[in-house]
Amino acid sequence: MPKLSVVVPCYNEEESIPLFYPAVSKIIAQMPVDAEYWFIDDGSRDHSLMEMEKLHQKYPDEVHYVSFSRNFGKEAGLYAGLQAATGDYVVVMDVDLQDPPAMLPTMYKDLQSGEYDCVGTRRTDRTGEAKIKSFLSSQFYHVINHISETEIIPGARDYRMMTRQMLNAVLSMTEYNRFSKGIFSWVGFRTKYLDYHNVERVAGTTDWSMSKLFRYALDGIMDFSDAPLSIATWFGTLIAGLAFIALIVVVIRHIVSPNASAFGWASLICIILFMGGIQLLSIGIVGKYVGKTYMQAKHRPIYIIKTKK
Ligand code: UDP
Ligand code: MG
Repeated sequence: MPKLSVVVPCYNEEESIPLFYPAVSKIIAQMPVDAEYWFIDDGSRDHSLMEMEKLHQKYPDEVHYVSFSRNFGKEAGLYAGLQAATGDYVVVMDVDLQDPPAMLPTMYKDLQSGEYDCVGTRRTDRTGEAKIKSFLSSQFYHVINHISETEIIPGARDYRMMTRQMLNAVLSMTEYNRFSKGIFSWVGFRTKYLDYHNVERVAGTTDWSMSKLFRYALDGIMDFSDAPLSIATWFGTLIAGLAFIALIVVVIRHIVSPNASAFGWASLICIILFMGGIQLLSIGIVGKYVGKTYMQAKHRPIYIIKTKK
């Protein structure tokens, strides 16, 4: 029988882990596959690791876990899980049951048909989420799809099942700054998207604050596009053009009425501040990319394992 690996990143999820396993294993038991679970303890400060150990004791052949030395972030957790997985198929799931396990058999069937290499999911609505959060995230998808060649599907979750072939392609991308939504799209292959209605967390709270989401969005844009780097060029060209026109106007005015008085102290200050702002912004953008290059150049490991069972 083919083997299905379930990869589950967890950070402070002691309440969700005991609910997750029975819900998912009940569904997988009805599928024609052998299952393997890889829980990733992303440096949790609660008893998540203990819950994983309990499951491992109970189902030693089926349930495995990797525990990090500290919190490395969900992207690192995903990568560790995908590396550990030995299955012919892999599915990535959040532990809070926001990714409905009932979709697993359909996803598997679509892969089995051979028509698709990956089945992803996307939320059609965002009930239970703040309006401003939904608005900002739709703006994010708008911007990133406009300036990046990698297509990022709006509302797509990390919940996806893929074949070993596609998994190997994902694993071959060893970049330090990992933006999974971009990586899954970048590797290509045929992906089908299933829609579903938003489900709220079973237990615990989300760890994603507004500022964390904002940073995540900026990182996503920078990891998959170099368009922000051209901002300086565009502004520079525009402002140089305007300055040239202004110069011609000043010269003509001087010829036509040599005694016209000069004025515009306030506007001068505005122009100087505006230019200063644009220059700092441009340097800042270049700085962000240099910083990312710097981190990549150090070749630090993406995560560090404390225990693995
Ligand atoms: N997660 C993680 N490391 C982190 C933050 C989150 O492994 O630093 C896990 C978390 O335990 C959950 C998944 O990533 O299984 C999604 O997190 P969450 O539910 O907080 O995000 P949301 O569903 O709101 O996008
Ligand atoms: Mg969640």
